Amino acid sequence: MGPVIAQKLRASGFHTVESIAVASSKELADAASISRDRALEISSKAREMLKINFSTAEELLKLRTRVTRLATGSKALDSLLGGGIESQAILELIGEFGVGKTQICHTICATVQLPLERGGLDGEALYIDTEGTFRPERMAQISKAFDLNSEAVLRNIIVGRALNSDHQILMVEKIDELIKEKKIKLIIVDSLVSHFRAEYLGRESLPERQQKMNSHLHRLLRIAEIYNIPVVVTNQVIASPDTFFGASDKPAGGHIIAHLSTNRIFIRKSKKNTRIAKVIDSPYLPESECIFAISEKGIEDITD
Ligand code: ADP
Ligand code: MG
Repeated sequence: MGPVIAQKLRASGFHTVESIAVASSKELADAASISRDRALEISSKAREMLKINFSTAEELLKLRTRVTRLATGSKALDSLLGGGIESQAILELIGEFGVGKTQICHTICATVQLPLERGGLDGEALYIDTEGTFRPERMAQISKAFDLNSEAVLRNIIVGRALNSDHQILMVEKIDELIKEKKIKLIIVDSLVSHFRAEYLGRESLPERQQKMNSHLHRLLRIAEIYNIPVVVTNQVIASPDTFFGASDKPAGGHIIAHLSTNRIFIRKSKKNTRIAKVIDSPYLPESECIFAISEKGIEDITD
């Protein structure tokens, strides 16, 4: 592209080839005041440069072999997930308030910093906190449990407090530079849906909400794929009136999240500090369950 377009893109926050590759043609067209066709040309060129225009299943398989796995702190949960939280994918943690979603998010902010041989990804974490529930002092406690230096652990977690859904979307749009600059190996959005649910009330605002969540999640998924990292999002449950009996809770966010999350884990409370996690509608994981505990160590296996 010419210097004028490049300048305009830079001014709109597109500083890397990756950021252009993951943007939609409309976003690029708006940012650089160019036609959608021209924007499409530029984004497909960017994808070519990054070799993300696959043509054969063989090439896809090669990319899949780059998949890495992140330990959660609980071996039982790791094996439920097929060996840990996988990169190039979105893991959705679903459950009612107090079930431990945020505790899992905190724990993996520590495990991601572990070396590969200990189940980590030897990298840093990016935590998008929409509910103001991230607690650095909790990280200190968890760090100790993993024999990690708590100051170093805190330095390696970037926290973005998203104040509303637009802010949340914007943060993800500006993530590329951070990922490149820092050694980000994990992205967390806790919670994915709360702002959207609070702001888009009523039936008439539903299409707009779904459209925004759709492009937000698409972007997160493309980031997971391009940078070969896991993205973990949390989701609430809503009481479902259309069930007669039994489990009447279902994940919020409708079909959009269901389609774009690669793996969905439903968590429910059990005795004392234990929790039951269940895989729901995964493309390749069996529908099984496991049990884990929340403790001062973060999350861990049950002891007896
Ligand atoms: P969610 O994000 O799903 O709403 P949280 O992740 O905040 O839920 O989990 C809250 C649960 O974690 C509570 O049951 C609480 O007792 C437990 N918890 C929080 N901190 C600690 C800690 N330091 N030690 C043990 N349990 C804790
Ligand atoms: Mg929470």
